[in-house]
Amino acid sequence: MNKDNVISKYSKQKISQMEQFCNDYKAFLSSCKTERECINFITKMAVDNGYISLDDALKQNKKLKSGDKVYAVNMGKAMILMVIGEHEMVHGLNFVGSHIDSPRLDLKANPVYENNGLCLLDTHYYGGIKKYQWTTLPLAIHGTVVKKDGKKIDFVYGEDEKDGVVGISDLLPHLEKTKKVEIQGEDLNILVGSTPDMTQKEDKVKANILKIFKSFDIEEDDLFSAEIEVVPSGKARDFGLDKSMIMGYGQDDRVCAYASLRAMMELKNPKHTSVCLFVDKEEIGSVGATGMSSKFFENSIAEVMNLCGQYNELDMRRSLNKSRMLSSDVTAAYDPNYPTPMNEATEAHLGRGISFNKYTGSKGKSGANDANPEFIAKLRQVLDKHDVNYQATEMGKVDAGGGGTIAYIMAGYGMEVIDAGVPVLSMHAPWEITSKVDIYESYLCYKAFYEM
Ligand code: MN
Ligand code: MN
Repeated sequence: MNKDNVISKYSKQKISQMEQFCNDYKAFLSSCKTERECINFITKMAVDNGYISLDDALKQNKKLKSGDKVYAVNMGKAMILMVIGEHEMVHGLNFVGSHIDSPRLDLKANPVYENNGLCLLDTHYYGGIKKYQWTTLPLAIHGTVVKKDGKKIDFVYGEDEKDGVVGISDLLPHLEKTKKVEIQGEDLNILVGSTPDMTQKEDKVKANILKIFKSFDIEEDDLFSAEIEVVPSGKARDFGLDKSMIMGYGQDDRVCAYASLRAMMELKNPKHTSVCLFVDKEEIGSVGATGMSSKFFENSIAEVMNLCGQYNELDMRRSLNKSRMLSSDVTAAYDPNYPTPMNEATEAHLGRGISFNKYTGSKGKSGANDANPEFIAKLRQVLDKHDVNYQATEMGKVDAGGGGTIAYIMAGYGMEVIDAGVPVLSMHAPWEITSKVDIYESYLCYKAFYEM
């Protein structure tokens, strides 16, 4: 296990491979700021790498065999990738699963209003945020609107140089002298306009903003059948004078999603059928039709087993029971600015490689998946064989820390699961910080795991 930054062990060649990988990652992170954008990106990469759609395979009643690659998308917001292994699926599968939803501000279903000559959009935040962090930032709007006739309109405003940005104002310090104003969820209103439409009698500024919506073929009522996410505007960047880190929005958990995606794309003829999951709704409890608790994933595996000629109910249960999984989610990195809730000795540190959390619960491991030592021992063997640098960690002090992942849900099938992911500074903030070596080590770890 590492006590130093693992870059000290890297050859020049390995450093340049890491930099190339991180450049690709930054491009992904900059262009994929919603679940739907991530799924579109992943689908394209999968198709380019020879994956076929499960829906198409089902329509054609195509027989699947060892080496075949399939994907299935769930409602545009979650997906599963599979490479069929040499062994029958009843002997167990190798899973890596991450989530692609991140904390943000969602527009309400009836969001547009005018107040004192300004037009604002009302929001309901998604996931755990510190509300003050979202004020006075340049924000962008990424949305999907579905018209009554089923026509889908995807739009992004606030990322292109030619666009403006939107945002949330904050009170000047002079007016907070006696009492500090605490920002409430209901205060997170996005300022989007101030120009009046003088042809209208009232709500002139709102009328002008609705005209702009209309130029995208969006009526006010269409915002009811829409998913519109307000996120930090701008690209992921190198961070630090030495450029050893990356700052970007949504690294929890798109950093693990990207590392596992790349590992999966390079996988050829695995012994065990390999599965890569990208799930939605982790930040709000893994609920809903697109969250990890959804039957979509189990159903997709059943369909694939069936097309392989290997399906029956009992073998399906045996297969999941004998499976292994890396729940690939980020963890908090030790922050010298905020030592109080962290234990320096057991916290993940930036630059020391992929972080394994045997358990994530707090105050007596409450709610945790507690990984088995038999499984961890096998992993140690594989990681050492493949020269993967890792650290064994916890998130926060015993009575202060903790955090949920998808691990416990998959553990419910009886499979072996452990949390393994990239340490993050400023986790859940609009701009999160990761270390390039940790990102690269995570990719190397997921690759090694698939060969287990
Ligand atoms: Mn996460
Ligand atoms: Mn999170």
